[in-house]
Amino acid sequence: MTADSIPFLDIPGITESVRDELDVRWKSVLAHGRFVGGPEVEDFEAHFAEYCENQFCVGVANGTDALELILAGLGVGPGDEVIVPGNTFVASAEAVVAVGARPRFVDILPDTLQIDPDAVAAAVGPQTVAVMAVHMFGQMADVERLVPLAERHGLALVEDAAQAHGARFADRRAGSVGVAAGFSFYPGKNLGALGDGGAVVSSDATLVARIRRLANHGRSVAGRCLHEERGRNSRLDTLQAAILDAKLPRLGEQNARRRSVMERYRQHLPPTCTPLGQDARAESVHHLAIVEVEDRDRTTAALDAARVGWGVHYPTPCHRQPAFAEFADEALPATECAATRILSLPMGPTLTDDQVDRVCDVLSGVIR
Ligand SMILES: *Cc1c(COP(=O)(O)O)cnc(C)c1O
Repeated sequence: MTADSIPFLDIPGITESVRDELDVRWKSVLAHGRFVGGPEVEDFEAHFAEYCENQFCVGVANGTDALELILAGLGVGPGDEVIVPGNTFVASAEAVVAVGARPRFVDILPDTLQIDPDAVAAAVGPQTVAVMAVHMFGQMADVERLVPLAERHGLALVEDAAQAHGARFADRRAGSVGVAAGFSFYPGKNLGALGDGGAVVSSDATLVARIRRLANHGRSVAGRCLHEERGRNSRLDTLQAAILDAKLPRLGEQNARRRSVMERYRQHLPPTCTPLGQDARAESVHHLAIVEVEDRDRTTAALDAARVGWGVHYPTPCHRQPAFAEFADEALPATECAATRILSLPMGPTLTDDQVDRVCDVLSGVIR
């Protein structure tokens, strides 16, 4: 008899756990028929801003747009440079290139794999206007050092919080630290829509007003047919907002479950699997369960044989992607070394203790 497979992320299970709430919200949107804008979007924006312990939230089409709109709203453009960690999903750099600026890739701390504040300080040049603090894997970057550093150099600190809904660092929530933060509600994120979605969170009313305008065809609040500047269409769908608003009250308990899953991994993993380092000031929401292994091919073969899902985030660092080769002016040793060793184990709020133990058993059986 073979044991059931263990999915990398059980999206159907997560959806099923909120099915009743979703049905109510879904039916109400279908009945009123206002599929773009409307009270669901406003409600979710208010609730999500509050969750992030910040003032304003603008729902947008996806996380990449959120980052791009923040940079555009700040007036970042051609001739400007934005510091981005090499260890990130390509979207962080895509947003920079989309506004016509240049990403300047910097290295990460070898234990937490977060952007290295010393590397940021060393990379600041005359054209640097912003730094993107990407909160990787559910843990926040060291904002206690990045905030004063950005202030000292007159840089805008933009948070890429796409993997960190609800995370904290020294008691500050992700999304409440920088000039603005971009969130993604891609289905696999800690707070996921039933499709694409994103949000900008900020305390800067002027910036928020501009982002809202840019994301809605540059339309003026003074009149629907008045377009003050060239914008685009990047709105959060009403249905997705309703779904997200129904799921948001569960996020705290889901993140807590992710924390206990990670704790169990930490207790039962064999010495050949080293869990990602945690900064003592950070409270991670464990978007991914990252471990470092010596022999990744052998390990993943064993997981495959036992029908345990896994991932690698990411096998090729952003600055080594062909699409960004022109910006990769130097080697980033910590980023490149981590890329060869990292492995993402099954993680999620529906993962059971038995499943965690089974994953650990499989990993313990991998011969060195
Ligand atoms: C998912 C993600 C994004 C982009 O979000 P989308 O909604 O997929 O556009 C940006 N940055 C990071 C770090 C991400 O993980």
